[in-house]
Amino acid sequence: MLDTICFFCKNKFTINHSDSQYYKIKKGENKYYICKSCNNSFQQEAINKTGISPDQIDDYDKFFRYK
Ligand SMILES: [Zn+2]
Repeated sequence: MLDTICFFCKNKFTINHSDSQYYKIKKGENKYYICKSCNNSFQQEAINKTGISPDQIDDYDKFFRYK
């Protein structure tokens, strides 16, 4: 288990190995945790701001997650 704070909403979360970001944060590859609801609203915001289609967002999302 790992206590972390979401980079966007600053809420506290306790994550475990079932969260894909857990190992990255543990190993220091990721400095910031982004909770699921912020991850969703981030994608929604990207759609609203850019007006690009969800198909294109998929590519952007992949880039964001696997960067
Ligand atoms: Zn959040």
